[in-house]
Amino acid sequence: MKSLEITGNIGCINQCTFCPQSLLIREYSKRSNKYEMNLEDFKIYLSKVPKDVQIDFSGMSEIFQNKNAIEMIRYADEEGYSLVFYTTLATLSKDRLLEIEDILFKSQIILHLPDNDGYTKINIDDRYLETLNALVFLKFGSSLPIVSNTYTTVHEKIIESGIRMEILNPISLVNNDFLISRGNNLDNVKQVIKKEGNIICQNGGPNHNVLLPNGDVLLCCMSYNYTTEIIGNFLENNYEEISSKAKTMINRPNSICRFCEKSTMI
Ligand code: SF4
Ligand code: SF4
Repeated sequence: MKSLEITGNIGCINQCTFCPQSLLIREYSKRSNKYEMNLEDFKIYLSKVPKDVQIDFSGMSEIFQNKNAIEMIRYADEEGYSLVFYTTLATLSKDRLLEIEDILFKSQIILHLPDNDGYTKINIDDRYLETLNALVFLKFGSSLPIVSNTYTTVHEKIIESGIRMEILNPISLVNNDFLISRGNNLDNVKQVIKKEGNIICQNGGPNHNVLLPNGDVLLCCMSYNYTTEIIGNFLENNYEEISSKAKTMINRPNSICRFCEKSTMI
């Protein structure tokens, strides 16, 4: 299924060790000073997106960091899109979570939890624990479509808080093998040797694109090297133009795909 990932902010509050945030900030700053997507722009961008494209609230930052996130989510739902959330819950209050309870039940939620080994930098304060507990409460005995994961093991502060994590039953991503280089945009993980010849994407590319606050659309969620990966801008291009451009990107001589764990030589 085609999808569009919504990046609500440039500069994710979480700054995880396996995410090239500083590279994105540096590259984006060359093009725009609009670091947060506003609701009006979001509506313009979405007007270009066909209804069979799934809207993923994820992208290159924690979506709930955006102060308009709830309103954007409600608008996308009212417009009839299928929604998926990839979230850490960082910055989200319990009250704001419950404002979209009805939408959560008809979407998919992938929850990333803080770990004991410092891979994620999610701030585990009272607000975070209250929101997480509210989500667990929603899941308890219900059909809430949520899967959760963490690197290594769930952070001890969560376990000590008494929140019933067995209800979420998080998957442990147990070691470094799960860390990818994001097209060799990270140098603290194993690098990918360039793949020559014809390659294809095994990760849904080129139909999983990423929208940024200024309307730029990137090839995919590996495109932290940004300026070489722009496939269009929703202020200037329609979806078909952007989609066509994406198809030409994978087999460029030095495309990011040639250095990506998700590509295969054919
Ligand atoms: S929460 Fe996601 S987008 Fe934010 S720093 Fe971590 S991996 Fe990157
Ligand atoms: S091969 Fe990698 S970089 Fe290329 S589209 Fe697929 S996931 Fe993105």
